[in-house]
Amino acid sequence: MSRGRKLSKDISYRDKKIVERYNSALDTMPSLAKRYGISKQRIHEILKRAKTLGYVIKKQNLSKRYHDFHQCEVCKKILKIAQKDELMTKSELTQMLNIDVGICNWHLDRLKGSGFISKKFATIRSDRLVKALRCYKYDSLSPAAVGRKFGYKNFYSILSYQNKKGINLERIFRLQTVPELKREEQMAISN
Ligand SMILES: [Zn+2]
Repeated sequence: MSRGRKLSKDISYRDKKIVERYNSALDTMPSLAKRYGISKQRIHEILKRAKTLGYVIKKQNLSKRYHDFHQCEVCKKILKIAQKDELMTKSELTQMLNIDVGICNWHLDRLKGSGFISKKFATIRSDRLVKALRCYKYDSLSPAAVGRKFGYKNFYSILSYQNKKGINLERIFRLQTVPELKREEQMAISN
């Protein structure tokens, strides 16, 4: 006599991940469907089954006007990243967060709208430009040298354009390995 398919008492590792990502607002049902290559209906079923097995499924309020940044895993991560470095492309950011670009934008819009982060954060599209601006910002190279390194003929005008746009380009030299006394010398040379 066949006993048929034994009903498992727990959900699979993948389904646990799905619940986790859904609850922490890293993904919505449509973006989960895309991520795991299954239908939205299937995601819905997985969440429903998880709930019957005792998992907490937090209803997401992605359409809600008010958004609690301090409770939001995505926003917390974005704030942390933005604090470290304003210069990055949107694709870099979405890769770091491992989320869908649409979701990333949704949280970014809220954070920017509330003034938590600069409106200019993750707005540059070109990887090369971001790398060049980073180099200018953190390495003690002259603008001309940065331009040569990254293949920009007139890096000065790029700098002034980005500056006008509101990108923070205040230079912070990474000279941690240079002893205190020599630091001033080096700054003098680069100026
Ligand atoms: Zn958020």
